[in-house]
Amino acid sequence: MSQVRCPQCGGKARTEPNPYYGAGLAVHVELLHCAACGYSGYRENETESAPAATPPVARSGLRGRIAALFGR
Ligand SMILES: [Zn+2]
Repeated sequence: MSQVRCPQCGGKARTEPNPYYGAGLAVHVELLHCAACGYSGYRENETESAPAATPPVARSGLRGRIAALFGR
């Protein structure tokens, strides 16, 4: 548990592990609760996953896909 600021009122808020993280579509590691204003929600993750690197240029069209399949 760590002290963070409430996104709504700026007061001290507490966090706790998100019990649903890792299951289904839960993407937030921690939940955030503020005793001052009653805010309760997800806490943004410390480290957002870096944006995916530029994908390799895909060959378009059937001819391109066949060429890619055979490594040409
Ligand atoms: Zn608050």
